Amino acid sequence: MSDYLKEIISGTWSLFVGLGITIRYFFQPVVTVQYPHQTLPMTPRFRGHTELVPDPESGGPLCIVCGMCEKACPSNCITVRGEKREGVKGKVLTEYTLDFTRCSLCGLCVESCPVTPTKAITFSRDYNLAGVSKEAYIFDLKKRLEAENR
Ligand code: SF4
Ligand code: SF4
Repeated sequence: MSDYLKEIISGTWSLFVGLGITIRYFFQPVVTVQYPHQTLPMTPRFRGHTELVPDPESGGPLCIVCGMCEKACPSNCITVRGEKREGVKGKVLTEYTLDFTRCSLCGLCVESCPVTPTKAITFSRDYNLAGVSKEAYIFDLKKRLEAENR
């Protein structure tokens, strides 16, 4: 009989503990975000895929096609191509491709870029990435920059 009573008391106690937790959370502010209609601000140190930094005057890429980022990348996910054009000092960027499926976001490409005072590549704050194929994550960063300028 005493075991029976103990069980009732313990069951009632656990019921009130559970109810207490429910009531406590009921009065706390809502933290759920209705994604994708609402989004939270990303932390300042968030790293998205890399992107080309535009020249503040022309809007074109600051990249000088030195290839340092391509060499520094441990995952071989960068392809940089450029060409010499008449009347233009240095090379002109013709292709900058990032295979984001292999990128580990290590940052070596950004660190190795010699362009000053701002680097010619940086981390984007793009976190809303979605795709159903590998190709969707192979980014033509030059085209992306041109699209932003339009
Ligand atoms: S962050 Fe690292 S892995 Fe990604 S492209 Fe740059 S160097 Fe390569
Ligand atoms: S290191 Fe900088 S300047 Fe050199 S190719 Fe890469 S992005 Fe361009």
